[in-house]
Amino acid sequence: MASERTLSIIKPDATRRNLTGAVNALLEDAGLRIIAQKRIRLSRERAEDFYQVHKERPFYNDLVTFMTSGPVVVQVLEGEDAVLLNRKVMGATDPALANAGTIRKIFGESIEANSVHGSDSPDNAKTEIAFFFSEGEITG
Ligand code: ATP
Ligand code: MG
Repeated sequence: MASERTLSIIKPDATRRNLTGAVNALLEDAGLRIIAQKRIRLSRERAEDFYQVHKERPFYNDLVTFMTSGPVVVQVLEGEDAVLLNRKVMGATDPALANAGTIRKIFGESIEANSVHGSDSPDNAKTEIAFFFSEGEITG
């Protein structure tokens, strides 16, 4: 399996609790390399744009409000099968249903404030990485 890249976001519930390093340790322990990373505050427009696919979902407005409620850390992860591996390390969307040892099980507060985002396919990973990073900001 070739090396792959995926987009990860440490969400406001986690940055608020000073968990950036703790989340990064779990990512690195799983074999993912953080090859780009920046802490930013999303504007409402940018968050709406990022979550366009969910705009018809009932939780869309609350999700955008939550994602703009504090800083996020956007990062590019690299590794073998990185998209799937990251989804495994993250755990299920609802922390209550996530497997033991996953980021969302350990740190997630609710189905909305679930500490991390991860791309769900290699195609989406490319789009999402380009949404936040220029090629020059990524050092593999
Ligand atoms: P992400 O896209 O953040 O990696 P995911 O792919 O596991 O998470 P999605 O279905 O894409 O889940 O939902 C995107 C985000 O919307 C979730 O991570 C969560 O923050 C929020 N969300 C999803 N379902 C609900 C819900 N039923 N109620 C409130 N918020 C939700
Ligand atoms: Mg998703």
